[in-house]
Amino acid sequence: MTDLNPAELRTQLFIGGAWRPAASGRRLDVVDPATAEPITAVADAGVDDALLAVDAAAAAMPDWAARPPRERAEILRRCYEVMVERAEHLATLISLENGKALPDARAEVSYAAEFFRWYAEEAVRVIGDISIAPSGANRILVQHQPIGVAVLVTPWNFPAAMATRKIAPALAAGCSVVLKPAAETPLTAYAIAEILDEVGVPAGIVNVITTDDPAPVVSAMLHEPRVRALSFTGSTEVGRLLLREAADQVLKCSMELGGNAPFIVFDDADLDDALDGVLIAKMRNGGQACTAANRIYVQEGLREAFVRGLAERMGALTVGPGTAPDTQCGPLVDQPSVQKIERLVAEAVDGGARVVLGGKRLERPGYFYPPTVLDDVPGGARMAREEVFGPVAGIIPFTTEDELIAAANDTEHGLSAYVYTRDLQRGLAVADRLESGMVAINRGLVSDPAAPFGGVKQSGLGREGAHHGLLEYTETKYVALSW
Ligand code: NAD
Repeated sequence: MTDLNPAELRTQLFIGGAWRPAASGRRLDVVDPATAEPITAVADAGVDDALLAVDAAAAAMPDWAARPPRERAEILRRCYEVMVERAEHLATLISLENGKALPDARAEVSYAAEFFRWYAEEAVRVIGDISIAPSGANRILVQHQPIGVAVLVTPWNFPAAMATRKIAPALAAGCSVVLKPAAETPLTAYAIAEILDEVGVPAGIVNVITTDDPAPVVSAMLHEPRVRALSFTGSTEVGRLLLREAADQVLKCSMELGGNAPFIVFDDADLDDALDGVLIAKMRNGGQACTAANRIYVQEGLREAFVRGLAERMGALTVGPGTAPDTQCGPLVDQPSVQKIERLVAEAVDGGARVVLGGKRLERPGYFYPPTVLDDVPGGARMAREEVFGPVAGIIPFTTEDELIAAANDTEHGLSAYVYTRDLQRGLAVADRLESGMVAINRGLVSDPAAPFGGVKQSGLGREGAHHGLLEYTETKYVALSW
């Protein structure tokens, strides 16, 4: 951990390469979830500021798009290097404003920086193709061109990685962006903007504006004709609203929405491996991840040992402020999150679930809920239908594979899923049948900048990471050609 002086943090809007106050002069508090006390206040943007940011992005883009891809790649590579140099500072900042434990924050910075490295490599590989028309009359030339100004809207749970997973491919493709981070965690976004500025990203290519009133601010940008794309990460509920807004200008939309991941443990799984995996899948960021194991299905033969082992491991986690050196599970992001979890647990217990560990909020300042294990959660319980987004592991027993698949797919979501079995043939067959954009077999983590991240059903549209993530910021142009 490094010492942070709140007075030295960037708290202004970043528009056209300049740090500036909101036109209204308003500011909003950024709160430390471990104490419920403000850390600092940042400029609170309104519609005028947002439109100024679009102006800056639109003016800067043609020159950026026209630069040699290698030049853009080298600037992105430098972003990676400086993020790595500043990893400890960024991790401390993330822990402070988001609450996650420092080891989680360090892992996030490393993951976030990797998007700059990966897209530095991809920037020089925007490859089209050419073919002969079936009639033989002409050639078909296909190219990918930068789509234009992109509006990026990100959540608070990965304040660095959700920003870089969008900024890096957009810049690699030759686009400019306006990033609107979550009001809970703007400081990390500004720290990243500062790095981009320092390493030579031209003024106006990346603009960052925070607001306490996102609906009119984002809407104004989505209706500005020079904006051509929206990339959103957040809840399915807000995603639906923004898709409707984006329809007016028929924007290209990339939507990374909520999840409800099944974590499936068959009788033949390696118990220790499965327990290691579930701890990662459940407890990364204290359970506040879209990929978090939300429904833990354990086959009857392994259930007793699994529940015991999970309660032991979760019970051994140190709870405390994210920035404290020994903390493994930090606070939740805010008070409504604690209240939501209290309600979900109470309802599950009323429905017949058994509390094996935890189950009661911690009486201390800040927004703490302890690691909790519930066994026998009814499949219809609200905590099995909605994202828990906290350190609560709900176990649902199952007997047959068919019964399991029906239960696992019985949700509007389909982001990630986890399967533990020693039988790879069974693992792959189950992966085929799961309605989910990503499946991890004998692993508790799916995220990787080189892999296409995204969901099916109401978990999203499009993919981030891999080469796919870059194509989200391009339009495909076809030229019919004779020579
Ligand atoms: P959220 O939907 O409340 O907010 C996300 C962003 O949208 C924030 O920047 C917020 O200010 C903005 N926003 C909220 N209401 C808006 C409106 N009416 N108009 C315009 N913008 C608006 O989500 P959250 O609570 O910040 O994040 C948690 C959610 O994000 C969870 O559902 C989680 O699963 C999801 N998530 C998904 C992924 C993924 O890759 N699929 C990754 C991380 C988080």
